[in-house]
Amino acid sequence: MSSLVFTLSVDDGHPLDLRIAEILARHRLRASFYLPIRNAEGAPVMTAAQARELSRYAEIGSHTLDHCYLTRVDDNEAWRQISEGKTELEQRLGHAVSGFCYPGGQFQARHVHMVRRAGFGYARTINNLYSDTGEQRFTLPTSLQFYPHKRDVLIRNFISQGAYKRRWPAFQAIIAEDNWLMRIYRLFDHLEQHGQVFHLWCHALDIERLQLWKELDYFLGFVARRIPPGRRLDNGGLIRDRRRDVALVFPDHQKVV
Ligand SMILES: [Zn+2]
Repeated sequence: MSSLVFTLSVDDGHPLDLRIAEILARHRLRASFYLPIRNAEGAPVMTAAQARELSRYAEIGSHTLDHCYLTRVDDNEAWRQISEGKTELEQRLGHAVSGFCYPGGQFQARHVHMVRRAGFGYARTINNLYSDTGEQRFTLPTSLQFYPHKRDVLIRNFISQGAYKRRWPAFQAIIAEDNWLMRIYRLFDHLEQHGQVFHLWCHALDIERLQLWKELDYFLGFVARRIPPGRRLDNGGLIRDRRRDVALVFPDHQKVV
């Protein structure tokens, strides 16, 4: 019997994240939203009051101060973006924040150390085609983005992100499918049989620009019909779940963290 768990990540803190939260509430699904304080690329970011409202329904994680691509700045600035992004978000919310997401999925080993030193409990990447929680809790991977990627983009991603043996089954399950939306359903079917985690991620701005609200709503409704309430997690819940599982399977897992 399948024991697949489902989690959704929503990045960038756009005010339309609240519309995603409404859809999630209707389907009784959980999600994690990663918020910068500002977005240096100019996209709007929700107000402090909106972030507090969202935090009543979902996990909120940090996405730096300014949606900063950490590999493009020096270490002092990277540290400021990571540490002040956390403290400012915590001030806005009035409670501690455990999760972090690397903007653009860009990071190097030193940024992982900074995220740990800043006091985060885990961090998420945008690495895709995983069917589990990956190697360690500061590089949590995903399964797929809710976005109409062309097939050659997926092939390039597959090649550039390594971990081929681990990611091959999911890649193989979807790559023959032409239609991007069908690929997501196909991956779900595959992971329901062979995976532990389906981790979808998206940007509200993409959903709005491409008018994919109906498609997102329908897919999340499909998920809710297939995944029972106890296996609908946010990323913080996934990490807590994973620690328990990994401690059983790999008692020496602390070494790789
Ligand atoms: Zn982002």
